[in-house]
Amino acid sequence: MTSLLQQAVFRQSAEKLTQLPADSICEVAFAGRSNAGKSSALNALTGRRRLAHVSKTPGRTRLINFFEVQESSYLVDLPGYGYAQVPGDMKRHWARLLTGYLNQRRQINGLVVVMDARHPMTPLDQQLLNWFAATGKPVHVLLTKADKLSRSKAAAQLQKVRAALRKEFHGCTAQLFSSSNKLGVEDARRIICQWITGPG
Ligand code: GDP
Repeated sequence: MTSLLQQAVFRQSAEKLTQLPADSICEVAFAGRSNAGKSSALNALTGRRRLAHVSKTPGRTRLINFFEVQESSYLVDLPGYGYAQVPGDMKRHWARLLTGYLNQRRQINGLVVVMDARHPMTPLDQQLLNWFAATGKPVHVLLTKADKLSRSKAAAQLQKVRAALRKEFHGCTAQLFSSSNKLGVEDARRIICQWITGPG
């Protein structure tokens, strides 16, 4: 079942909410600070080394990029946030695009939030969780680059994030993840595939 994600193919980008794919019946969205490891995570989850490369090409980093995994079901790569060099009005454009997409898109079945395990739950991550919480849909946090921490430090970070989520963002789950050594890839695939195909 998890091989579903390996079928991902790039379909299209959207710069505005009016450009989202019309045929879509199910979407799993990926968000995170730029450089948190979102593209690497998408590549690891789909088993495709250069899939999310498309989201990194000049001109595409500020777009919403759609990868189809089965007919009318998409993995959605949202623009990374928190990049310091970006001018204010562009940040506002991103924020509008991101909040608009997350709040209006009914076919979103779940949101994956990618955070660097060494610096999780930044104010922007929390803002994103706040925006999405209103939808009542599930969120799963990937604490990436876990290979850069000792096992005990990684476990401590996971406990800390889970405690913070329990307190403020009820129903959000979290796990350790590494695109480098593939830690947690199967667990994450299982959750995402369930969001796409349903529990049965
Ligand atoms: P994005 O901006 O969130 O898409 O981040 P990228 O996937 O491009 O990753 C940013 C940097 O972190 C790159 O240099 C990656 O090679 C590195 N990176 C991403 N994931 C991991 C990981 O799991 N382990 C390690 N050690 N490095 C990672």
